[in-house]
Amino acid sequence: MNLLDLLLSTDKKQRLRIRRSLLASLVFLISIGMMIYLSYIGKMSIQATSLLSLGMISTCLAFYLALRTGFNLRFKEPALTLPQILVAMTWICAAYANTGQAHAGTLMLYALVMVFGIFVMEPRRSVISASYGVLAMVSTMLYKMLTDSQVYPWQIEIVYLLLVVTILPTIARLSEQLSAMRRRLKIQKNDLEQACTQLERVAAYDELTGLINRRRMTEVLAEHSRNQTRQTEGFAIAMIDLDYFKMINDKYGHAIGDQVLSVFGESARKVLREIDILSRWGGEEFLLLMPKTNNGHPNIGIERLRAYLACVQPCQQIPELKISFSVGFTSYEKGESIYDTIKRADGALYEAKAKGRNCTVII
Ligand code: GH3
Ligand code: MG
Ligand code: MG
Repeated sequence: MNLLDLLLSTDKKQRLRIRRSLLASLVFLISIGMMIYLSYIGKMSIQATSLLSLGMISTCLAFYLALRTGFNLRFKEPALTLPQILVAMTWICAAYANTGQAHAGTLMLYALVMVFGIFVMEPRRSVISASYGVLAMVSTMLYKMLTDSQVYPWQIEIVYLLLVVTILPTIARLSEQLSAMRRRLKIQKNDLEQACTQLERVAAYDELTGLINRRRMTEVLAEHSRNQTRQTEGFAIAMIDLDYFKMINDKYGHAIGDQVLSVFGESARKVLREIDILSRWGGEEFLLLMPKTNNGHPNIGIERLRAYLACVQPCQQIPELKISFSVGFTSYEKGESIYDTIKRADGALYEAKAKGRNCTVII
């Protein structure tokens, strides 16, 4: 584990929280620098500078430890943004009260503290921090106007007060808008993810039969041929073409033709093995991939499907309509291109058609 991991944790979320908290400590660093300078030029007491600096450093450390030890995870908002902002505001009010003639400078830091929260805080917490911010600073100003009117004259303080009263709620409003934007982005991201999943489906499946399409099947075939080694169990492919399909379309209409295709796909899924992969290769052509065909009769599943379809009525109103198909069957030869295998299956299918259809030719 390197030093950064040790300091910032390896957990991604915790790391982000710790980094944000350390970045926010910058406000304290600037305040401390400003106070040291003021005490150096004699405009602030060394005692006040030391006390305030010590206090600021201690709270930074306390928040760092709370985040690093995972203590923060017990809370509803584990980033501890709101408590960090409230504590920082309190310290800056104290700095405002002790920095004498330079006190107006601390107001910039006050606004900066609010800004740190706007990217992560939900609207309710922004309102709480802005309300606390206004209340704490206005009280400090009133107190100083009454007790130290020479350095904090009311004629000038009233301007600062107006600034605080208007700027903090404006930042809180910005925070609200950002929060709404984050919510919208989240919804859009979800929608996009859903659309992508749907697109993937559309790109890989044939709508009519529910089988994978030619594009997906080409990938599957390439994958299978790539994975073939001496030890693997081999695979076979079958090019299946429905017989006299054009005639079905011409005689009964395109819709019945569609129904025949759909019934064929459904029946094949029912009858073939779970591991066989059937695709709609095009029109009324289907390409079947049968893995692990080294043992037994490779075309047994196809003949089972043939027998099954002989008994199926794809359309109740046309009892005489039956589905028959011709098959070109071949095994993949290790090392050959899958396109050669497909070509061989095509040749075998051509022969099956020439033989009178409704049969399988094995090459
Ligand atoms: P063969 O026995 O020699 O295979 O003859 P066939 O009539 O089955 O073959 P042919 O290639 O002559 O005709 C295929 C027909 O399939 C032509 C085409 O209009 C039809 N077809 C292709 N895709 C679809 C589809 O999605 N739905 C429908 N209903 N018909 C389709
Ligand atoms: Mg055809
Ligand atoms: Mg055909």
